[in-house]
Amino acid sequence: MHTIDMDLVEMTLDVMKYTIDRISNVTPELGSPRKEEELLRIVGETITPEGIGGENAFQLFRDVLVKATVPIDHPRHLAFVPAAPTRAAIMFDLVTSASSIHGAYWMEGAGGIFCENQAMKWLVSLTGLPQTAFGVFTSGGTAANLSALVTAREEWRSQNPKFQKERVLLLTSNGAHSSIKSMAKVMDADVHLINSEEEFLSGKDLQKEIENLSETDRNRLFAVVATGGTTNAGIIDELDSIADLCEKERIWLHVDCAYGGGALAANSVRHLFNGIERADSITIDPHKWLFSPYDCGAVIYKDLSLAEKAHSQKGAYLEIFKDEGAQGFNPADYQIQLTRRLRGLPLWFSLAMHGTNKYREAIERGIELAQISAEKIGRHEDLELVRPASLSVVLFKRKGWTAEDYRNWTYKNHRDGFALVTPSSYKGESVIRFCFINPDTTEDDIDKILETLS
Ligand SMILES: *Cc1c(COP(=O)(O)O)cnc(C)c1O
Repeated sequence: MHTIDMDLVEMTLDVMKYTIDRISNVTPELGSPRKEEELLRIVGETITPEGIGGENAFQLFRDVLVKATVPIDHPRHLAFVPAAPTRAAIMFDLVTSASSIHGAYWMEGAGGIFCENQAMKWLVSLTGLPQTAFGVFTSGGTAANLSALVTAREEWRSQNPKFQKERVLLLTSNGAHSSIKSMAKVMDADVHLINSEEEFLSGKDLQKEIENLSETDRNRLFAVVATGGTTNAGIIDELDSIADLCEKERIWLHVDCAYGGGALAANSVRHLFNGIERADSITIDPHKWLFSPYDCGAVIYKDLSLAEKAHSQKGAYLEIFKDEGAQGFNPADYQIQLTRRLRGLPLWFSLAMHGTNKYREAIERGIELAQISAEKIGRHEDLELVRPASLSVVLFKRKGWTAEDYRNWTYKNHRDGFALVTPSSYKGESVIRFCFINPDTTEDDIDKILETLS
């Protein structure tokens, strides 16, 4: 299998040509899903005892299957949280695979982990956390949140041996991401959602909630999760007053910035995150607003040693790392996964190549595009802004439309291969939601999308 034969050369050329074409194309065809039976009818069974051949398999992917996917970096893809990985990061993702590096332990991954840590050092510096802080790249925000919350719970248990057997409780806002609830389920923890009167969670809301807890609940409260940019509306909780409260009550503060974390690099909005430097742990997704390919999340801890206590795995076959060069940072010790891809490498290469200023500019552009859209929407007689743009999210309504009108509009634009913009809801009402990430989205793209709402 490993001799270089002509098939391999040809397959490699096909792959490289496809990759270069794809990353050069700023408006890739906006594909859409098809039924599995339909895809099977077109491509047939692809896994056979003899294999169908690289050329054939690649052709099926290129001509049929990839067209049943949505390129999330399309400049008029403003749904969910889009992505816009840099070309440098994408190419280095190929290098990461080709280099076959095990990213769990310094012994095998030293040079690659060094690169990841260089990128991590910059991320940590954006948070303003103290010198003891550091972090590690994960598969995404969900895994980062779980890693952080497990660390919080283990620390809480070591501080509260009396309550070892208690089912633990965390507090968060109803704007928190769904992964908080689902990771609490994984941990068998309970979640109290706080319905704050403002649009964001504050220390005051938390204080009130804590005062209303029963003694049993107060005794099993191990963490507060604040959000640094809600996914639906881009709202940032009042981190400073939340940090005050958590310090006073001695509760772990986790700040989930999976979507909003990139904005820590944007001077125009950095002040909105004041207080984040007092968090115990933070989640940031480079695959959202830091232009990394999927998948790449990050978890950062104020005190990294607590993560090691929670996550370091011991096993007979893992005991040999005694030589000097093998002593170093072991990413496996700080999050839930053992064997891991060096998924911070594409970010490292792209940051090293472009410099951090380029990142700041590209993130500011997303914020600016949201401001520009909000202004256009405000001037449009059929449209109504629901709240001011926040980070790179804009929520607005088309006057007179029902939920069904919004859905039909989304489907039509998608079917036409024109744009993917999806409805959402805000305070119980249907709205249209723009989320900007891609700095190559233009004002003209926005105008054309708004034209379809007239
Ligand atoms: C996207 C998101 C997550 C989940 O991250 P994944 O990378 O999808 O696992 C968690 N929290 C927030 C605030 C998010 O925006």
